[in-house]
Amino acid sequence: MQTANIESRIARVRDTISAAAARVGRDPGKVTVVAVTKGHPAEVVQAALDAGIEDIGENRVEELEEKVERIGRHACRWHMVGHVQRRKAPQVLELADILHSLGSVRLAERFERVFPEDGRDPFPVLVQVNTSGEESKGGFEPEGILGELEAILALPSLRVQGLMTMAPLTDDEVVLRRAFGRLREVHRSALTLPGYSGQELSMGMSNDYAIAVEEGSTMVRLGTALLGERPR
Ligand SMILES: *Cc1c(COP(=O)(O)O)cnc(C)c1O
Repeated sequence: MQTANIESRIARVRDTISAAAARVGRDPGKVTVVAVTKGHPAEVVQAALDAGIEDIGENRVEELEEKVERIGRHACRWHMVGHVQRRKAPQVLELADILHSLGSVRLAERFERVFPEDGRDPFPVLVQVNTSGEESKGGFEPEGILGELEAILALPSLRVQGLMTMAPLTDDEVVLRRAFGRLREVHRSALTLPGYSGQELSMGMSNDYAIAVEEGSTMVRLGTALLGERPR
């Protein structure tokens, strides 16, 4: 896809975010657009960067590895947004600037165990919450999550910057708002935990990001809306 094409899609996305933010009195500048480039070749990543995108998301470690190699580790902020197997934890620590999908205490403990002792800052993570109850979705159940969150907060190698969720694939606004509202509630109760100072709510994808912004999202993860249909 051409840079010009992506530029016009970005402009449209930013208009949508601004309008959604305005409807609820939010600052649209507080919403980071993460371009999820999974399934697209490195050329598309480069075109997105040329068009002004600064945050790139991938959902598989192998593909993240490929893209980082082609584009450069410090050419943008790299977001790992998909499920991570525990044995891939070391790659994520090297290749990503933030993980959106920390979905188990065991994975958190693996990060802690393999974290390099080179004086680097703790690794930024978002804790994924399953707000829809769908079996296919990863993340912690909202019920009882505070205990698990405490266990994660106790790990010095990780810095919990907030929460992430994936809403059900639906156009039903009520269902979407319920999922996003749920994440906000979990966030609010997490703020009572010592050591939790999360600020980010990663929620909203191509089909629901306007609603997510109205519901308080600070990071929208957009594939199709920015880049068109995925080729593979
Ligand atoms: C693919 C993906 C997205 C983007 O999906 P679109 O519907 O194309 O915007 C967002 N988040 C995650 C975790 C993804 O895997």
